[in-house]
Amino acid sequence: MTVVYEKVALIGLGLIASSMFWAMKRGHVAGHVSGYARSAETRDTARRIGLCDTVCDSAEEAVKDADLVVLAVPVGAMASVAQAIAPYLKAGATVTDVGSVKGTVLSAVGPHIPQGVHFVPAHPMAGTEHSGPESGFATLFDNRWCLIVPPEGADETAVVRLEDYWKALGANIERMDPEHHDLVCAVVSHIPHLIAYTMVGVADDLQRVTDQEVIRFSAAGFRDFTRIAASDPTMWRDVFLTNKDATIEMLGRFTEELFALQRAIRTGDGEQLHAYFTRTRAIRRSIL
Ligand code: NAD
Repeated sequence: MTVVYEKVALIGLGLIASSMFWAMKRGHVAGHVSGYARSAETRDTARRIGLCDTVCDSAEEAVKDADLVVLAVPVGAMASVAQAIAPYLKAGATVTDVGSVKGTVLSAVGPHIPQGVHFVPAHPMAGTEHSGPESGFATLFDNRWCLIVPPEGADETAVVRLEDYWKALGANIERMDPEHHDLVCAVVSHIPHLIAYTMVGVADDLQRVTDQEVIRFSAAGFRDFTRIAASDPTMWRDVFLTNKDATIEMLGRFTEELFALQRAIRTGDGEQLHAYFTRTRAIRRSIL
């Protein structure tokens, strides 16, 4: 494969950035990759496991001469990181991010990007419940979607180059506007995480069922459904605080359905339950 960017800088060295690094190495997608994370412990771990060609002690140093700068920090930290690196960005470089919410990233990060530097937000629809520099792996993005969310008036050449980069990491790409992105992600990712967190919270809160029983007897339902409740709390706090409108809209719809099912159970309306489950089974099977 051919090099898409000569020098790439990764800011934040967690699950997504480390997976990007291993995927870049696998496909020879970048000539040189520098990295920076805020905590010295993360930087030490990165050096120990060979994550990045150079691990820098400052973000400014990492982005120097970079053709592509990737913000891979929690959504709430994106703006301050962008502000800090702005004076050190090379003219003609592209800044992108991997944040799970796009409306806020565009409005909070966009103003910090200097004239002559391209800004092309993106969101790989791939992840696990693990976090940190040791959690990444080269195949994370293979055949997964990466949504590209260019701001209005974005330079087409810069956008296409970023799309080529994500394809080289193994992903399929699709362009989307930020509002639609945030709504889609509320449905397919954010609400499921919120529900998983509440399932664990409720199980823990019960008086007559002990935590030990939950652990011992959790078969497919609880175990499968709550895997994502082990995800990083900072990342998910930021997702809900920055995707407020879409999450609250979708949560309202979800609550309506739950109440309808609750009523059907209370009134013994087996017909309604059966019809509902038949419809959702057909939809779920058609997704696979
Ligand atoms: P992670 O917790 O594994 O890593 C985050 C990294 O950012 C850590 O290295 C942390 O030290 C660093 N960091 C935090 N604040 C910083 C700051 N102010 N300056 C510099 N470094 C800082 O998280 P992750 O899963 O890799 O997520 C990173 C981004 O990717 C988030 O915006 C998240 O919304 C998005 N994302 C995550 C997933 C997922 O499933 N985990 C999927 C798609 C997108």
